[in-house]
Amino acid sequence: MKALISVSFGELFLKGANRKQFYNNALSHIFKNIKSIGYDKYYTESAKLYIEADEENFEAIIEQLQKVFGIAYIDIVYRTEKNEEDIFEAIKKSIIDAYGKKELTFKVQTKRVDKSFKYQSPEFNMLMGDKILDEFPNLKVDIHNPDFKVFIDIKNNAYIYSKRYAGLGGLPIGSSGNGLLMLSGGIDSPVAGYLMAKRGMKVNALHFHSYPYTSLKAKQKAVELAEIMSEYTGPMNLFMINLSEIYKSIATNCDRRETTILSRRFMVRIAEELSEKYEYKALITGDSLGQVASQTLESLSVVEEATNLPLLRPLIAMDKKDIVDLSKKIGSYEKSIEPFDDCCSIFAPDNPLTKPKLHYIKMSEEKLDIDKLVDEALETIEIIRI
Ligand code: ATP
Ligand code: MG
Repeated sequence: MKALISVSFGELFLKGANRKQFYNNALSHIFKNIKSIGYDKYYTESAKLYIEADEENFEAIIEQLQKVFGIAYIDIVYRTEKNEEDIFEAIKKSIIDAYGKKELTFKVQTKRVDKSFKYQSPEFNMLMGDKILDEFPNLKVDIHNPDFKVFIDIKNNAYIYSKRYAGLGGLPIGSSGNGLLMLSGGIDSPVAGYLMAKRGMKVNALHFHSYPYTSLKAKQKAVELAEIMSEYTGPMNLFMINLSEIYKSIATNCDRRETTILSRRFMVRIAEELSEKYEYKALITGDSLGQVASQTLESLSVVEEATNLPLLRPLIAMDKKDIVDLSKKIGSYEKSIEPFDDCCSIFAPDNPLTKPKLHYIKMSEEKLDIDKLVDEALETIEIIRI
């Protein structure tokens, strides 16, 4: 008898033309998350993934698996030969591990993938149910609403388990296309990336810095935020682009109060160029309506006008408190609140426009060589594989 971890995937994994790709995405995500903990081997048997590892590490591995979207359940299972004695030994161990001597109700649920197994499922449920009742006076049968189920999967091996860990839900990464998250150093954007990944989007990130006007630490912070996020989003590309020439050009040629809105329009233009090259189909930001000056309806629409790509803002209707709670859950909060020098804190005005008019913004942009500035910014690109 051997203890191992099994992973059951949600429905989308099991059907459709792209399921192999979802599955491969999920595997690379899972093994990225558990590599540092360590495991011995893994294999798939009729739609479930089985991971062999040191039992001492099960808890840590399960915690990492609970960061992967599209997983329905995680179980600690005992693998045995397909005979009554071994199966019952595994059942005993599974029940004692999970429930000790508590007074509870149960139900046995056998699933026979191997049809050559000598018992029919209902017959085997009864047989094992009777043995459990004899062994555990603290347990009773309740077939309609049991406190727990004893699962017996008869495949190439028998797998026995009785305590399920819920997966994170959501859709498998890759099932909803690729997007590019504008990742600042703040609280909001990592949460925005997390939420899009939850709906199956493969998220990549783009960070704008203003080195040497901002420190190398600010860049490093973006890398670390992307690393934290990637426990949920899976492996990603992180692009770093230097925006300082653009800020300087705005400062020289335009009204200082327009800096934020003009720079945001540059950000989405650059993001669009990158998206064309890498075939990303949407941009994602951490905007939340009314949170700051650049997040009024007027500002949002003037920024949006500078790109043809869908601009997704999953936090648009969320309160700051709820965003903070989510960032704590994801684990990005502590990193996000570390002080850092944002480009905006150097070039941005104290009193930015809150109701920019597209007409005036376009007039200001006539003073800037947009194509050249965008091309030159793109030349500063650094690509980090997270
Ligand atoms: P965040 O907490 O994500 O920084 P914020 O509340 O500070 O957001 P803003 O600074 O107005 O809000 O930024 C709004 C959105 O614009 C961010 O969520 C992010 O998606 C994008 N953004 C802002 N600055 C940058 C940057 N330096 N690099 C990449 N994206 C940025
Ligand atoms: Mg910010």
